[in-house]
Amino acid sequence: MSFTVAIDGPAAAGKGTISTAVAQYFGFAHLDTGLLYRAVGAKVLKGADALEAANALQPEDLTDPNLRTHAVAQAASQVAVKADVRDALIAFQRSFARRDGGAVLDGRDIGTVICPDAEAKLFVTASPARRAERRHAELLSRGEEISYDQVLADVVARDRRDSERATAPMIAAQDAQLIDTSDMSIDQAVAAAIRAVADARR
Ligand code: C5P
Repeated sequence: MSFTVAIDGPAAAGKGTISTAVAQYFGFAHLDTGLLYRAVGAKVLKGADALEAANALQPEDLTDPNLRTHAVAQAASQVAVKADVRDALIAFQRSFARRDGGAVLDGRDIGTVICPDAEAKLFVTASPARRAERRHAELLSRGEEISYDQVLADVVARDRRDSERATAPMIAAQDAQLIDTSDMSIDQAVAAAIRAVADARR
């Protein structure tokens, strides 16, 4: 039987950690849909055409550790404004969502466009300053040299691009439960998400 959990929200709000924990807790499969756009963005940085890259995407493209870099994140949000690129990635996401045994998908448009019928929907957010702090610490720990101010400026620019684009803008679904992690520990945020999904399963 399928059961879809849609988890949307801006960069570095805690979606990834929460989605991994929710998937593990309920024994569901997990797809970080940002990786699809990152993989296309990474290919564009190497000179590929965005739509051709999206159509040719292979599962092994999603495992490249280089996808987590700052430059790839920016490239991802630029290819993500293209409606034809987004369309090319829909079928894979929908079939993942409806696989047997349950699935968690995290992204920007899962509860609104990809899986409007998801059984559980969460929108995970936090203030731009808190998100930039977290992302800055993560990038430093990965060995990237970048200032906090640059990360904050890029978080704000990416939010704007993601929420103002014409196709599938980042927006909370009307029936999504909002989780603001600004003042929450990881454990508190994960517990809130698990409670919300457990309620939806009743
Ligand atoms: O979540 P992550 O930071 O990996 O996403 C990278 C970029 O991919 C986002 O800034 C956004 O532009 C795009 N994206 C999207 N729709 C999704 C997931 C990611 O447009 N479902």
